[in-house]
Amino acid sequence: MQEVKNDNPSLSKRPFIFYAVISFIVIMLLNALVFPSMLKRSVIEVGYDKFLEMIDNDEVKEVSYDESSGQFIFIGESDKYPAIYKTVIWPDDGERLLQQLREHPDIEFRAEIPTQASPLLSFILTWILPILFFFIIGEVFYKWMGKKMKNQLPGGNAMSFGKSGAKIYVADSKTGVTFSDVAGQDEAKDSLIEVVDFLHSPEKYTSVGAKLPKGVLLVGPPGTGKTLLAKAVAGEAQVPFFSISGSEFVEMFIGMGAAKVRDLFKQANEKAPCIVFIDEIDAIGQKRNTIGTGSNDEREQTLNQLLAEMDGFDGQKGVVILAATNRPESLDPALLRPGRFDRRIPVELPDLAGRKAILKVHAKKIPAADNVDWDVLARATSGASGAELANIINEAALRAVREGRKIVLQEDLEESIETVIAGAQRKSAVISEKEKKIVAYHEIGHALVAAMQTHSAPVTKITIIPRTSGALGYTMQVDEGEHMLMSKNEILNKIATLTGGRSAEEIVFGEDNITTGASNDIEQATKLARAMITRYGMTDEFGMVALETTQNQYLGGDTSLACAADTASKIDERVIETVKNAHDKALKILRENEDKLHKLSAYLLKKETITGKEFMDLLEGRESDTDTL
Ligand code: ADP
Ligand code: MG
Ligand code: ZN
Repeated sequence: MQEVKNDNPSLSKRPFIFYAVISFIVIMLLNALVFPSMLKRSVIEVGYDKFLEMIDNDEVKEVSYDESSGQFIFIGESDKYPAIYKTVIWPDDGERLLQQLREHPDIEFRAEIPTQASPLLSFILTWILPILFFFIIGEVFYKWMGKKMKNQLPGGNAMSFGKSGAKIYVADSKTGVTFSDVAGQDEAKDSLIEVVDFLHSPEKYTSVGAKLPKGVLLVGPPGTGKTLLAKAVAGEAQVPFFSISGSEFVEMFIGMGAAKVRDLFKQANEKAPCIVFIDEIDAIGQKRNTIGTGSNDEREQTLNQLLAEMDGFDGQKGVVILAATNRPESLDPALLRPGRFDRRIPVELPDLAGRKAILKVHAKKIPAADNVDWDVLARATSGASGAELANIINEAALRAVREGRKIVLQEDLEESIETVIAGAQRKSAVISEKEKKIVAYHEIGHALVAAMQTHSAPVTKITIIPRTSGALGYTMQVDEGEHMLMSKNEILNKIATLTGGRSAEEIVFGEDNITTGASNDIEQATKLARAMITRYGMTDEFGMVALETTQNQYLGGDTSLACAADTASKIDERVIETVKNAHDKALKILRENEDKLHKLSAYLLKKETITGKEFMDLLEGRESDTDTL
């Protein structure tokens, strides 16, 4: 369940204009208090002669003389309603005017002490008050910022800029999670256990000259237990464990994220040996822009700092960086090179056996009936992630409670699979029986074409567990990284293998029922065929001429054409021809071996994942020992 953060959104969304309006209102109020006349009725200005005339007509009630401006302000009454008038005295007419005023005893007259405030008061009003006012505004803003920062860093000090805010689990404080809580991910567990062991007894490894891996990257789709694995490491490792999420490094101000990284590694170095875990590292580890500058300085600086820190400490000290991501393809290549994250642990969606194990781990927490058939449940949840399986168990328990039972039955679990899977169908890649069958034939098509061309084990693993990359199945080819050079013949074989998936679909389901599943194969085959012609000089027609150049070899490796337009169209023709020939070859191979295609596909459909050995055993007619499922 997601926790909703309770930071007042109305407060944080108030724009600058809000404060500007408040300031404006306050200044207006101040004005009104200091210069009250502004709010009063307007003053009528009259000539001096009119003033004298009004005195004579007894229209004047009160007169005051303002020394500083030499003006008379007087309250007069014309047309029966009083108003304020002002006028300027004729020079040297003071004596005479005084005389005239005395002749009208009802008129009050006086020389006014200037209505101005005292010098001290005016100083306070014009200087101290505005400064105070802005000071208070600043203070409020500062506090509000502080609150925001605090929300970002749980447990952080309001103004602790540059502190990493990483949670530290020390040896004796337990996360409560151990490796036994993680089911199915055996390879990943083994790999991590080794790292933990290295931290415990380094002599065992250093005596044979082995170095501790500096960084371990967990990659895989969401909900497969990456964070869980890291927590298990924290629970098992008897060393301090720092845990922080990548997004916590993302800061408002340039340089802040980098400062956090520095702080984190400083702490880690002091506590070595220890483990630092950065969850969702893609938040800071994204590829740097190759075009344009300054688009994201803050993130780039943070990443650069991380790279520098990872190079900076020596592996002997015993700081291991653990990171998790579900978008490894978006990570900066510099982050992935050996010496930083040297070990990459795939955490894939669980297969049949894995699903059963995960279901059982979570079932321990609920009172399940003894006769629950976990095999059936595991089979019904193909494509579900560990998180979804955990959810299924929980939903089943809820259903049992709803029905007023104290024990969870098979029907509860089956029902909850339907609600969870059906609800999740769109977002996760749970596939139907029919689609599974198509995928099985497609994958076996690849493998069979590969095997028939080379007469050796073509694959290390074939699986129809869907990947989140969009591929519904996967055929792991013999490791091509082993040999750096590929012959022309090998490339042609590879293109044929790539077309093998679609070819199998055509043969089994008919040409009108081919699916979109081959899109990635098509892309790869086209790329290879094109590279053969434009970069590897493997055609007689063009010879050893580079028709394409590679850009950004280390960041992406895009290519651009470097030839005339009509050469380009000839290249296209050649590419189409090459792929078409390969496709025909694949179809021929599969037609000749149709019985094997059916047999192998049925087996893969049943087991979901098969090894290269199992594949070859079946292909060569040997009965596999794992045929009982
Ligand atoms: P992510 O790979 O996205 O980090 P999490 O580790 O957060 O996934 O997994 C979410 C939840 O799913 C876990 O808390 C756990 O309950 C369950 N889960 C996922 N994978 C497994 C697994 N292999 N074994 C047991 N439980 C799992
Ligand atoms: Mg996670
Ligand atoms: Zn394919």
